Amino acid sequence: MENETLFNEEAEPPGPATGLVKVENEIIDFFSLNTQTLQHYPAKQKSERLSFPFKDSPRSRIFRKRFYPEITRFEWFDWHWQLSNAIRDVETLAQIIHLSENERQAMMHHSGALPVSITPYYASLLNTHDPSAPLRRSVVPVVDECLHTAGEEEDPLCEDTDSPVPGIVHRYPDRVLFLVTDICSTYCRYCTRSRIIGRQNQHFVDQDKWEKAIEYIESNPNIRDVLLSGGDPLTLSDEKLEWLLSRLKMIPHVELIRIGTKVPVVLPQRITPALTAMLRRYHPLWMSIHITHPDELTPEMSAACIRLADAGIPLGSQTVLLSGINDEVSTMARLVHGLIQIRVRPYYLYQCDPIPGSSHFRTPISKGLEIIAGLRGHTTGYAVPTYVVDAPGGGGKIPLLPEYAIGWDKGDLLLRNYEGNVFRYPDNHAETKDIH
Ligand code: SF4
Repeated sequence: MENETLFNEEAEPPGPATGLVKVENEIIDFFSLNTQTLQHYPAKQKSERLSFPFKDSPRSRIFRKRFYPEITRFEWFDWHWQLSNAIRDVETLAQIIHLSENERQAMMHHSGALPVSITPYYASLLNTHDPSAPLRRSVVPVVDECLHTAGEEEDPLCEDTDSPVPGIVHRYPDRVLFLVTDICSTYCRYCTRSRIIGRQNQHFVDQDKWEKAIEYIESNPNIRDVLLSGGDPLTLSDEKLEWLLSRLKMIPHVELIRIGTKVPVVLPQRITPALTAMLRRYHPLWMSIHITHPDELTPEMSAACIRLADAGIPLGSQTVLLSGINDEVSTMARLVHGLIQIRVRPYYLYQCDPIPGSSHFRTPISKGLEIIAGLRGHTTGYAVPTYVVDAPGGGGKIPLLPEYAIGWDKGDLLLRNYEGNVFRYPDNHAETKDIH
């Protein structure tokens, strides 16, 4: 693709166009089309927008009919429509959920770095009356966001320090983070990159910046793994994403491309057959899906993950541990069991990063250890994520485990199992030392 064409496109996300598709002045609902009619549908629109044959859940169908009665199923399943109609203002949100005074004040006087945006699909999952409900807390701001406490930093992981060129974070020797957009369809209130995302692509989507980032990767043969992140790379058009993937694929030393995204959770309509057909041309391609709570495991989200898995993309989950949202063993067990069923391997459980205004989200480290202790041994090993702290100051991800190795005694290593019972392993060849 010509670069000129790529970057002359409408900025992502698309403007306020409804996404309504007309053929000879008729609105087309793909769910009622037969194959013959479908053949006459404009090929580009058909392939890029159509998420058919997704089925909407009863919950989202009832929601759509109540709050968007004019909207067809086709529009609802058009990811461009979902992006264009993301809820960003207090008036629209107040029509859908009963905002608490706290939430209303936070929305009206919002001055923090992170904008508000919630796709209509994700809004359909929010509890309308309870401000403490998990999904609602993760995307609707509260005044606590204005409360900055000790140890919080705009860039706690010092990503900017490890950025040799705009958009690249090069912390580990053999891999880089490539921040390709600052747009997300839905903004999480605890986002690590709240300092830079949601600025309408002031930061990253610029042909010069992408080219310079790719040049940096090309000129560093140690880089064998590139993680596309942002913002959310899946908010880019298929053309832009394919341009990036194809450029990276041409670099001989890049063995692996990964995509970090929350789109299958907040905008599952984006996982179109056209997208997965394109992605499967760039294997080995892996995907890390940001998921917070079992309430996000809807039929639509499950269909999106299964579609990605069927395209041969290994899927892992990333979950941020959040106070009052997912910090119970039972909640996390429901989440990881649900993920395994839709072929997503629980990958990381992150300690929440200390960004400004995050104290109401952060748990003590002991809570994360308690959750891992409540999963390990009690359920399938594949379902247990690695609990990590991304060390403030740029130290990288550091895994934390409950204390399973408790010391040595007469050449034996003393091990505590998941039930708390102590066993001995004859560790005769090791230098005997006290590990406390
Ligand atoms: S999806 Fe990721 S990048 Fe976007 S707001 Fe949430 S945490 Fe931040």
